[in-house]
Amino acid sequence: MIHLLYKWENGYILVEKGDQMIGFIGLGIMGENMARRMLESGQDLIIHNRTKDKATALLEKGAIWADSPAEVAQKADIVFTMLTTPSVVESVIYGEQGLLSGLSNNTLWVDTSTVKPAYSEKWAKDAKDQGGRFVDAPVAGSKGPAEQGKLHFLVGGKKQDIEEITPLLEVMGQSVQHMGDVGKGSATKLAVNLTLVQSMASFAEAVSFGESVGLDRAQLADLLLMLPTTAPVLDGKRDMIVHGTFETQFPLEHAYKDLQQLSETAYESGAPLPISHAAKELFAFAKQKGLGREDFAAVYLALKQDK
Ligand code: NAP
Repeated sequence: MIHLLYKWENGYILVEKGDQMIGFIGLGIMGENMARRMLESGQDLIIHNRTKDKATALLEKGAIWADSPAEVAQKADIVFTMLTTPSVVESVIYGEQGLLSGLSNNTLWVDTSTVKPAYSEKWAKDAKDQGGRFVDAPVAGSKGPAEQGKLHFLVGGKKQDIEEITPLLEVMGQSVQHMGDVGKGSATKLAVNLTLVQSMASFAEAVSFGESVGLDRAQLADLLLMLPTTAPVLDGKRDMIVHGTFETQFPLEHAYKDLQQLSETAYESGAPLPISHAAKELFAFAKQKGLGREDFAAVYLALKQDK
């Protein structure tokens, strides 16, 4: 094992080289940025993505390409996944070339996708049956925090597994919150997104209501954001709503998916979710209007009156 001291932002980090290969599968808005941070911190990285083109920049920086999820799992000691829905994760992990078929020798699979806890628990069992280990580590924070290494990891799993990956998580994020056993990271993420998505929906509703009674959109948005009654995270959505351009940071279809994961989990646990279910139908409507790949702030367009 070689220890290398890398210059890293305002200081230095110590990286163990030669003893660890990190795998990353899923190079979308979040995954590409997270993988880049790991590569730039000096980690050896092997990557796979359904669309190979999206890996080009990372390959030019020294990442190794794997032709399948199975190859990533075979060659890496720790494998991260950052995918979309549970069915997409399952299409990547099952089958002859799937991640699980390559897991062995105690390989640790860290799933950072937002899914309901029942899936994390199921996949942990699948990983164990293959001789591997599993941690759920979804993230709070969007494209900007992923670029800057400012994510918050919401983690479920065994303490020693989490200690093992904490130096890697700290390259990609500013905090690591161990919430309990496998599944508890995913459960926490659903609670976080409950507040996020409802806040977005109520801000959009307040602005569209204000416009319907003759208020100025920009003036009202700025006033709402100045007051403590509006969630600070919505500062970043001000220009989108005022200018009507919704460059995607958090795709609206993922917000809808998260509300669905939340709904299914609450059905199983018996928790009533009256406000979240109203928000879910609003996001369903927005997606049906063709706004699924816009930023989730575009939910405003589903409410706005055509004049
Ligand atoms: P994204 O940009 O839509 O990227 C999704 C990734 O999944 C891409 O690598 C994509 O591959 C892959 N994928 C999609 N369908 C696939 C399929 N059928 N087979 C194989 N691979 C497939 O999503 P994202 O915004 O990075 O989000 C990823 C996860 O993080 C989601 O669970 C989301 O809810 C969560 N999250 C997102 C944010 C955010 O602000 N964006 C914040 C926190 C958490 P291709 O490149 O081939 O399309």
